[in-house]
Amino acid sequence: MIKVKDLHKHFGGFHAVDGANLEIAEGSITGLIGPNGAGKTTLFNVIAGVLEPTAGRVTMAGKDITGLPPHELFHKGLLRTFQIAHEFSSMTCRENLMMVPGNQSGERLWNTWFGRRRIANEERALRAKADEVLEFLTIEHLADHRAGQVSGGQKKLLELGRTMMVDARIVFLDEVGAGVNRTLLNTIADAIIRLNKERQYTFVVIEHDMDFIGRLCDPVICMAEGRVLAEGTLAEIKANEQVIEAYLGT
Ligand code: ADP
Repeated sequence: MIKVKDLHKHFGGFHAVDGANLEIAEGSITGLIGPNGAGKTTLFNVIAGVLEPTAGRVTMAGKDITGLPPHELFHKGLLRTFQIAHEFSSMTCRENLMMVPGNQSGERLWNTWFGRRRIANEERALRAKADEVLEFLTIEHLADHRAGQVSGGQKKLLELGRTMMVDARIVFLDEVGAGVNRTLLNTIADAIIRLNKERQYTFVVIEHDMDFIGRLCDPVICMAEGRVLAEGTLAEIKANEQVIEAYLGT
């Protein structure tokens, strides 16, 4: 589904991504691991259009998407989760979800005069959709809570929930389990598995928690020094000598 060919991202003279080649299979939950500073987040940001690559190509279903801005990728169903920005923390969890689908009629001035009924209908549909997402993620009891006041793990679920408000095809998750307690981590893992199985989401997951990676991901790709070192099942990766060396070297 996604092919990354000889991708480079340089910051001045520093090569954060240094000739990465990889493929993400449609329908997979692919894990991306590697020591700190390996270039995982930079690679994510280049694929997701947050950063421009220095060189190389990214294709999605055979089409060149290199350097496309995030909103264009969003319309193609390629999403990267983001932490809930400070300015949205005083809105409720439901409102945070309802904000996601862009281009709502209510945003256009003339509609406030000519299309009140249409806006009301759209808002009702969005609200129903948001409630369905909250229920899917087992956090329907948080619908009216302010996003800034829910726990770290619940925020991660909400971040995942935002990808469900649109027709996502591939979702990039950056450390979705960081600082999350075991119970919520299991809820997040279950949600990812269900989205993958029931809604055909493809996932790419950066995560340090190897139990989480082992439970969810096949294949696992290991990066070091801006390149892909190895790919395989987690067991294969753990037994790979280059991988062991890369981790020991940090
Ligand atoms: P990882 O996610 O694998 O820990 P990153 O992609 O965050 O690695 O970082 C790779 C390297 O690139 C690190 O050494 C980091 O310091 C450097 N880096 C990342 N972003 C920037 C930036 N905006 N400017 C300069 N260096 C950066």
